[in-house]
Amino acid sequence: MGALPRRVPRARAVDGGALLPGLVDAHVHLGLTAPATVRSGGIAGVDDLGWDPAVAEGWPGMAGLPHVRVAGAFLTAPGGYPSDRDWAPAAAVRPVAGPDDATAAVAQQAAAGASYVKVVLHADGPLLDDATLAAIVAAARGVGLPVVAHVEGPGQTARALAAGVDRLAHTPWTERLPDALVEDAAARQVWVSTLDIHGWGDPSAAQERDRDVALDNLRRFHAAGGVVAYGTDLGNGPLPAGLNPRELRALADAGLQPPALLRALTSRPVPGLATFVPGGPFDPTALPAGDLIDRLAAAVVTTAPTGGPAA
Ligand SMILES: [Zn+2]
Repeated sequence: MGALPRRVPRARAVDGGALLPGLVDAHVHLGLTAPATVRSGGIAGVDDLGWDPAVAEGWPGMAGLPHVRVAGAFLTAPGGYPSDRDWAPAAAVRPVAGPDDATAAVAQQAAAGASYVKVVLHADGPLLDDATLAAIVAAARGVGLPVVAHVEGPGQTARALAAGVDRLAHTPWTERLPDALVEDAAARQVWVSTLDIHGWGDPSAAQERDRDVALDNLRRFHAAGGVVAYGTDLGNGPLPAGLNPRELRALADAGLQPPALLRALTSRPVPGLATFVPGGPFDPTALPAGDLIDRLAAAVVTTAPTGGPAA
């Protein structure tokens, strides 16, 4: 999935407002939400990060949805997360028994139209070993797909980085990462934010601790030049269907000012769609973060005009 555009997206003045490149939520589970509601609130593109590939392969191009990219199934160790969770149907999980099973597991997702491969490294349960993880990454490279990982628990971020994982599905929250690791990650990975999963605006003491760890990691990742993608984990927990202002305020807390916020919101191009922000033109480089977030709360998805705006 490569690097994000480093350029700040242009807000183009149009009748009654401003037009942005289509805004993207880089972490959703359409299988756990009402897909037609996702496009409300200005989200023009979504990256689904795990579901039954037989269902997910029907989403890209489906009428009424945002522009969708899919992972297909979660690749995890036999018995590993999320096969132990009620919300994950058996077909949404593809256990990978060992290195010899990696090529077939990746090929099945690619055949279902995957744009990237999702792997799970969750230390609280059976874990993919290093050889199997390496084989999955190699198989994904072999078919031209990047790898996105769910990392949770001690040492899992370091393992993902060492294996060449391109993107983390969440800002790591279970441990404060050493500066050297954060700087290494900033040079090589994209991190999907998902800061609001820690309590959805009303955190318990434990969720607040997790959120503080995530904010600390993301603040240093961003300061080191790391590429952040806006993402919410929509479908898991009480999240609003469209753009989530709490996620945006948390990103601002992590040091992303409006130009960086807009880059995070446009983590990939969205063919054919744009996001319209009513209320007159604005300069993303001049607006305070709070004002930009307030303006974006009224955003809606529209058809992209031919010839622009480019992400
Ligand atoms: Zn998720």
